[in-house]
Amino acid sequence: MPTLLDALKDADRRHVAIGHFNASELVALKAEAGVARELGVPVIIGFSEGERAFIGMREIAALIGAIREDFGGEIFINADHVHSLASAEEAARAGFDLLVFDASESPFAENIAATRAAVEAVKAIRPAILVEGEIGYIGSGSQIHAEAEAAARPLPLTTPDEARQFLEETGVDLLSPAVGSTHGLTPSMLSGAVQQHLDVQRIADIKQATGALLTLHGGSGTADEDFRRAIKAGLNIVHINTELRVAYRRGLEAELAAHPDEVVTYKLYTEASRAVAEVVRRRLQLFNNP
Ligand SMILES: [Zn+2]
Repeated sequence: MPTLLDALKDADRRHVAIGHFNASELVALKAEAGVARELGVPVIIGFSEGERAFIGMREIAALIGAIREDFGGEIFINADHVHSLASAEEAARAGFDLLVFDASESPFAENIAATRAAVEAVKAIRPAILVEGEIGYIGSGSQIHAEAEAAARPLPLTTPDEARQFLEETGVDLLSPAVGSTHGLTPSMLSGAVQQHLDVQRIADIKQATGALLTLHGGSGTADEDFRRAIKAGLNIVHINTELRVAYRRGLEAELAAHPDEVVTYKLYTEASRAVAEVVRRRLQLFNNP
């Protein structure tokens, strides 16, 4: 199997993006891996701090190992939004392909110092692991935000100079700049009435200034046309989580309502699995044919 770095370089050359989807249990994990395999494209499965705690680090590594063997295909794992050196080292030991070290809530200089320390520590454990750094806080978690709250906090965008300095001083392999997306959705985004927009020019400027591999967090609710332009401008990984969680919950609710007497637990997840797969398929088709 090619490494994640090989897959990213290939995506960068072809101006396509690799989809990143979170999972917190086996139903979503298998649905996501299954669609990637069906489409014949690489995929990154991300596990946030809460998701890692829920499944277990060694359990994640074992599950992915088995899925890689059973399904074939390029399935990579990311420790998403790691906030401490201890968690970063744990991810490196567990065999993750990538970790997102997130000190973006700290002032810029502290973010650089903490990220550089993490890069040095994890590469000493596992030289092949890739590290992504974050500039600019874009909210945390995939909750549904109130409209007013979302509108009241315009988030500053990363500048090309900040991006260049961060890359030089931290030694990260990938960068996630703030370019207009936020984690989570608002009710009007959830209903499809409003879509999130990206600053595509800023993405192009950062790519031009750095040549770096770039990741977009908080991709849920983004207009398709913005994704197309942003991927052509140089985005290499796109994160989708809230859309999956919404699909999962709605699928589960529909299943429970349709079969109130069903008690065979694995049968309760049929609709949740189908709904997650549908989101993943739609997003992967777009990211791989922008
Ligand atoms: Zn994120």
